Amino acid sequence: MKTVLGKTDNLGRTLMHEHLTINLSKEKDDADANLNDDEAMIEELKALKAAGVDTICDVTNVGMGRDVSRMAMIVEKSGVNVLPSTGFYKEPYFPEFVCKSTEKELARFMVKEIVEGIGGSGIKAAIIGEIGTGQHGFADEEKKVFLAAARAHAETGTPITTHTTLGKHGLEQVELLKNFGVDTEKLVIGHLDLNPDMDYYLKILDKGCYIGFDTIGKNKYQPDSIRADCLFQLVKRGYGNRIVLSLDITRKSHLKKYGGYGHSYIVESFIPMLLDKGISQKDIDMMLIENPKRLFNSK
Ligand SMILES: [Zn+2]
Repeated sequence: MKTVLGKTDNLGRTLMHEHLTINLSKEKDDADANLNDDEAMIEELKALKAAGVDTICDVTNVGMGRDVSRMAMIVEKSGVNVLPSTGFYKEPYFPEFVCKSTEKELARFMVKEIVEGIGGSGIKAAIIGEIGTGQHGFADEEKKVFLAAARAHAETGTPITTHTTLGKHGLEQVELLKNFGVDTEKLVIGHLDLNPDMDYYLKILDKGCYIGFDTIGKNKYQPDSIRADCLFQLVKRGYGNRIVLSLDITRKSHLKKYGGYGHSYIVESFIPMLLDKGISQKDIDMMLIENPKRLFNSK
């Protein structure tokens, strides 16, 4: 069976924020921050597929180590559907041409990757992201990338997904994008599980966007028991239709081969934790299946 890359219909269970290839090792001065063991990734994704996850949104973009030929190979061998992305991450990970280009030029670049494909590969980006801010909010170049993303979104209707550093400044992100015409039905503010603050969540959700609980398993930053508590509260308040889930695996040490918890952790350990909390299977299906489907397919 030939696996199709970037298919946005019949997504099935979907993880909204992952990286098949990523290399931030130079900036972080840490070889662990390079996902370059493709065989280990294929094994991870085969196990994930066997555990019932069908689609991964790969939010690695230009400057983060995106490699569509390796992506295609991993997709082919693992059988998982993958949605590639376009855009630029955050300081200090921007390629040089981000600083040299205008907002319009960056928008044109993203539109090209969405409409024509990435490089000469014919593989089209299905989402704009992850576009991010640092811990003190928008740097000038980051703001330029957000405005370029808003333009590319206006032209193509492509969803946008963001990175917040430690879950902060999400409200500024949604306000900026909304002010520049982005349809909040097609916007995910990411990594909010790293900042467990119910008032903050409600202010962001009030804008109509989705929020990402997308660093599941990163217990060093935030225990999963707190993630589960927050999800329970949000679902109880009726926001189950505005939350998407993922692990954001970015390091070799996160992979099972290197002693980590691995992608299947979400299905094997975290979902049972949510069921124990009293979140229903219907709400879990909403977050894993219905919300990604609506994000990619609403007009
Ligand atoms: Zn991120």
